[in-house]
This record gives sequence, structure tokens and C-alpha cells, in this order.
Amino acid sequence: MTSVGASAASRPPRRSPARVVLGLDLRSGPRYPTGLAVMDRDGRLLDLRVVRTDETILEAVEAHHPDLIAIDAPLALPEGRHCAEPDCECAVAGLMREVDRIAAREGYRPFPALLPSMVRLTLRGIALRERLQTAGYAVVEVYPGMTQDVLGIPRKQAGLGGLRRGLFQAGVRGLPRRPVTHDELDAITCALTGLLHLSRRTEVMGSGIPVPLVLPRRSRRWTNPLVGGARALDRTISR
Ligand SMILES: [Zn+2]
Repeated sequence: MTSVGASAASRPPRRSPARVVLGLDLRSGPRYPTGLAVMDRDGRLLDLRVVRTDETILEAVEAHHPDLIAIDAPLALPEGRHCAEPDCECAVAGLMREVDRIAAREGYRPFPALLPSMVRLTLRGIALRERLQTAGYAVVEVYPGMTQDVLGIPRKQAGLGGLRRGLFQAGVRGLPRRPVTHDELDAITCALTGLLHLSRRTEVMGSGIPVPLVLPRRSRRWTNPLVGGARALDRTISR
């Protein structure tokens, strides 16, 4: 892949432990805005924007070399499915993954991965995950609404101001002064979840196969999510 001039300028220094997480609020295709947020280990935003194509996403990945990529989209087919075709014989395995059923049981109302309105997003998420994993990147699935609920951050439905303030109170820094879209705020939430995962403050819902669905640990009392996170990261790195 040839790098594109604009992204090279934001390349972080390559010395460890300058760890970086990339969050993606993925949409079903380039017609819709996908939120992209890159955050350093202290919760400072290095990049925040709306993107459209897989190529732009991959350019951002190449520019930042994130230690972890956290994506809001189903990143696998339901167990027993080998395609998304409704008239294939594998369709008896249904529209929901085991992790969707667990999330629903626990009160989170996920969209089933192969609900007709979800199929294109799920297939895009799977293809992107495979490309990123092939390139050697670690990927997790996240669900911003779940993270926001666990951390006590208001969801976007309650107003973007509250979500933005909640992310700031959670320790996110470097929010631009311009209005930030809900796609970007959810991407920040994805990156924040990834950062908590790197500092081992998350739990995995479901089997974790092919990649884990992670959320902040629910047994914890969350007051300042990012405080102390850098030290936990250092322990992870020097392990
Ligand atoms: Zn099939």
C-alpha cells in the first residue's frame, strides 16, 4: 500500500510504549459516514473524522499503526452459517450469533448480525476484520452503547452534548472545538473501550471467537476510567 501524504504527518513516533488505539463506528458502505477516532494511551485524540471507504480506513490504520482496532459492527456470521444468503441451507442456523443472544439476555438489544438491514454492515465488518488480521493487527468488536451504559456516559439519544461531556469526564482529551458528529463520538467510545481492553479493564462477552466482543468490566465502580490506565498499560507491555 502506498501511503498518502496527508496521513504521514500524523504518524506517531514508533518507540514503545507509545501505544495507540483506533476506534471505528462502521457503517454498511461508503454512502454513509463511518466515524474514525485514534487515541493515544493517555486518552488524547490524535485523529478524529468521518470516513467513507475501506481504502481511507486502511490508510488511517497504516498511518497510525494502532496496537488495537476496536470496531462497532458484527465481525462474524452466526455460528453454523457460512454465508448470508436467506435461501441457503445454512439459513436454518438463524440470524443471531450466540453473543447477540447473550447481549439480548443481558438487556442490551443488539441488532441480529443477519437481520436484512444489517447484512451489508456485517459482511463489510467481516471483510475488514480479515484484512486487518491478515496485516497483523489485533481487532476486537465493541458496542458503544454498552460501553456508555457501563461507564455511566449518556447515550447519543439523550443528546450529543451529554455524550461529549461524558467522554470528557471519562478522561478523553483533545476533542476539537468544532461540532463533533454522533458517528465520531461513537468512534471515540470504541477507541476508549479498546484502551480499557489494553489495560485489562474489560470483560469478554460470549466465546471470543473469532474476535472478542469486549466491554468495560461491569463488576467495577467506574469513576475515572483512564486514570491509572497508563500504568496498567506499562505492565501489559513489560510483561
Ligand atoms: Zn449458506
